[in-house]
Amino acid sequence: MNRMYEGVKTWNPYVGCKFDCVYCKPSFQRQAKRRKKWCELCYRYKPHFHPERLNRVPNAKVIFACAYGDIAYAKVEWVEQILDVIEQHENKTFYIQTKNPSVFELYYFPSNVMLGVTIETNLTEFNTPSKFKSYAEISKAPEPWVRALKYMNYVTIEPILDFDFEIVRWLRRIKPEFVYIGYDNHNCKLPEPPLEKTLALIEELKKFTEVRLKTIRPAWWEDSPNKLRVRP
Ligand code: SF4
Repeated sequence: MNRMYEGVKTWNPYVGCKFDCVYCKPSFQRQAKRRKKWCELCYRYKPHFHPERLNRVPNAKVIFACAYGDIAYAKVEWVEQILDVIEQHENKTFYIQTKNPSVFELYYFPSNVMLGVTIETNLTEFNTPSKFKSYAEISKAPEPWVRALKYMNYVTIEPILDFDFEIVRWLRRIKPEFVYIGYDNHNCKLPEPPLEKTLALIEELKKFTEVRLKTIRPAWWEDSPNKLRVRP
């Protein structure tokens, strides 16, 4: 699965998604398949509610809520129940992340929620050795430029896809409190940017926000005898 966020535990009263990102299958969806014995809907990654988990909030300061799915596909009444529980845990911080931030407009979020949006790139077409030449081949989620228009507390650039530096202007406008950034961990042969370009992006982002590094390495297609891995 994806390396989760440092020091953050997950809580999954809602599971499932239909955005079908190619990199989700070997990560979140593979994890969910392990639950076949207990829940067929988890196995198939169909959007569904696990109300029995509402009162099983992990013992952690920071919790990634609904990490195995996207609340863009959750029923409003499910999310409202989840937010009611979150509000009762005012000493904890809950991250909620989506690829369709228009869903955030449906809810009143308690003050202990941090809203995040995944923006893996600012491009819709790619010119790299990857077989994936367009964003539409990678995910059915709204195109990244649609996501960048909405309010959010943080941005996740993971798995990073090739970009141009217009993405810095997007992020300056969004003004996230922090940005997670990292390469794919599952050998999906995505249209990745070269390491040098990613390092330059990180330096630009550090000028106006906190950058939280995940897996930083050369692109899979780079000729790099000294595989550099920078870990947080
Ligand atoms: S949006 Fe997230 S949960 Fe949905 S398919 Fe993509 S990676 Fe998986």
